[in-house]
Amino acid sequence: LLQLFIPLGFLGIVYRQIKYALADMDLVFKLLEREPEIRDRPDARPLVIREGGIRFERVDFHYQPERAILRELDFSIAPGQTLAVVGHSGAGKSTLARLLFRFYDVTGGRILIDGQDVREITQDSLRAAIGIVPQDTVLFNDSLYYNLSYGRPGATRAEIERAAGMAHIRDFIESLPDGWDTVVGERGLKLSGGEKQRVAIARAILKRPRILIFDEATSSLDSHTEQAIQQTLAEVAENHTTLVIAHRLSTVVDADCILVMEEGRIREQGTHRALLETGGHYAAMWELQQREKCE
Ligand code: ATP
Repeated sequence: LLQLFIPLGFLGIVYRQIKYALADMDLVFKLLEREPEIRDRPDARPLVIREGGIRFERVDFHYQPERAILRELDFSIAPGQTLAVVGHSGAGKSTLARLLFRFYDVTGGRILIDGQDVREITQDSLRAAIGIVPQDTVLFNDSLYYNLSYGRPGATRAEIERAAGMAHIRDFIESLPDGWDTVVGERGLKLSGGEKQRVAIARAILKRPRILIFDEATSSLDSHTEQAIQQTLAEVAENHTTLVIAHRLSTVVDADCILVMEEGRIREQGTHRALLETGGHYAAMWELQQREKCE
């Protein structure tokens, strides 16, 4: 009997590992749609994070040579600061996140993290340093505990509970009849959009990255939930260098810097207040959104 149990136990471990791997792929594909061939250079070194500063230096990028997506994009995010990117659909906002994560290589210029070109460091170390809260969070048909622990396999229960607390999802979980054992996903409890985002935030907290990318959900949450999520994000962003890809201007008001992108270029750049004072494109977008809210 023992001979049967050992291989079965081993199969269980393998199953979990495959599940983690597939889940990872799933997340990646969801966020980035596809992953092209990017390889580590033979002499690639692990990323050494000192402060977590990010610099895009005259970055050009295209998916297909005949259509430029980013043109000479030049900006920095100082360590611990939050940069929000706004612009019309298709302006190239999510592409910035894909390039920072090195799912594609720039076609001109370079991207630096603490002075290190992302093409010269190992992808593992790069991706370990960046936490992503994607637009759509993938949940597994498994317990809430498992779904959160995915942020960092091997995290302790205390760490998972703390992350859930910081993401303001712990009270909700503990109020459920089955608590942390509640099964979610296709065959279990369906979480709302806001709850799913909180799970994603908790996962990102658990990962303890220095850099955070928040790809705001395009699907609308009710305004109370939206505000609550924004508040949570602001709390979490405090200790991270954060790139926010925003689809609603209300998300960006408190950012240290806002980039207004248009057709792959930076059209305007500044704080919310400064951009309103300039009375340019951002101010017009803001006024339009405010008017839409009242109608
Ligand atoms: P949204 O606000 O709608 O999410 P965005 O500003 O984030 O838009 P991106 O997703 O960065 O825009 O896309 C920029 C442009 O690049 C779009 O015109 C898009 O069609 C194109 N694009 C995105 N991914 C690919 C790809 N894998 N292959 C070819 N073109 C792509």
